[in-house]
Amino acid sequence: MMTDAFIGLGSNLKEPATQLARAVSALATLPDTVLVAQSPFYASRPVGPQDQPDFVNGAVWLRTSLTPHQLLDQLQRIEHKHGRERLRHWGPRTLDLDILIFGDQVLEDERLTVPHRELRNRDFALQPLLDLKADLALPDGTAVAELRSRCPDNGLRKLPPADYP
Ligand code: AMP
Repeated sequence: MMTDAFIGLGSNLKEPATQLARAVSALATLPDTVLVAQSPFYASRPVGPQDQPDFVNGAVWLRTSLTPHQLLDQLQRIEHKHGRERLRHWGPRTLDLDILIFGDQVLEDERLTVPHRELRNRDFALQPLLDLKADLALPDGTAVAELRSRCPDNGLRKLPPADYP
């Protein structure tokens, strides 16, 4: 069975837009998975410590027969392969990949919370999801558009395509 999964991407080190473009290429080659679409990229101010570069964020829509935990394994493999560095909690990182939504599944265990725990509070995750699928909803029926309209603004700026590879 194929499930629609939505992945959030973020980076604020080492040419973030390039990190994201490479990650999208890697996601496009995952086993038992197809890349349906990728969102535009956005720049946003960091969450947490402000003495770090702005983030670049985006999202991709995958269709996969992997389980959520298999998909998480793959995301972590890509993060490590792309030289993920994380110096402190909520600090700068080269690449962060999160499962935002996995079909209509609701999961909570020691490795995985799906839908992603912080999704409702992050315009930089909600906006790319809306770009991918305007009528997307959480498993409880809440429209992503509704969450976006209620979300605090974090100074999101859409990057012109010329600014990323
Ligand atoms: P962070 O890099 O700060 O996003 O946190 C990574 C940790 O979050 C990993 O150890 C994952 O096991 C855990 N995690 C929990 N829920 C998720 C999710 N929906 N997507 C990705 N990682 C998750």
